[in-house]
Amino acid sequence: MINLILLGPPGAGKGTQAHLLQKELGIPQISTGDMLRAAVKAGTELGQKAKSIMDAGKLVPDDIMIDLVKDRVAQPDCANGFMLDGFPRTIPQAQALRDAGINIDYVIELVVDEEGIVKRLASRRVHLASGRVYNELLNPPKVPGKDDVTGEPLIQREDDKEETVRHRLHVYQNQTQPLVKFYHELAESDQVPHPKYISIDGMRDVGKIHQNILDAIQ
Ligand code: AMP
Repeated sequence: MINLILLGPPGAGKGTQAHLLQKELGIPQISTGDMLRAAVKAGTELGQKAKSIMDAGKLVPDDIMIDLVKDRVAQPDCANGFMLDGFPRTIPQAQALRDAGINIDYVIELVVDEEGIVKRLASRRVHLASGRVYNELLNPPKVPGKDDVTGEPLIQREDDKEETVRHRLHVYQNQTQPLVKFYHELAESDQVPHPKYISIDGMRDVGKIHQNILDAIQ
């Protein structure tokens, strides 16, 4: 049983690393962004609420996100653990996990610089159905513009346009960055149980980062 949180700004490589870890550890990636995009695509009530918020690069309200994640981690496929990618994004979200008795073993922070991210996200392409992530420059698909597994077209996310990216980074600084301190303090506290905190240089290549993470948690 191992429960992980991947922490870092948009474009830090959380989704890419989560996909690699999922294969290695056999625990599901829980990407709240992917869940919301699926809801938007399916036109559910949640999707209708979330769409304009997401397109603007803002955060969906905490109560909605907390309920979504609590339900998700209670599913049978999480019995041996899970990886949270994109959650928590605020202190109340992190606090809600603790209040619900959902224990986290490791918080893995991917540390990246802002200009690097803006460049990275401009060339990011995604396969919506699977959540697979590519980068036209750094991690290109085998056939340009096509998903490696299904051959279906890749798209650029609406919120990966430069102006929205800058706004999302601003939201990250204000709302999510405080979690670095929150989890650092928790890791150093004598509260039982508490997660270990791991910082990893997210500007290195994908394979090296993956290895760093495995070394840190095994
Ligand atoms: P992501 O794919 O993680 O970058 O998420 C895309 C968008 O979904 C974000 O910009 C938010 O609008 C929304 N979102 C995803 N996760 C959360 C969360 N934990 N709290 C609030 N909004 C979220």
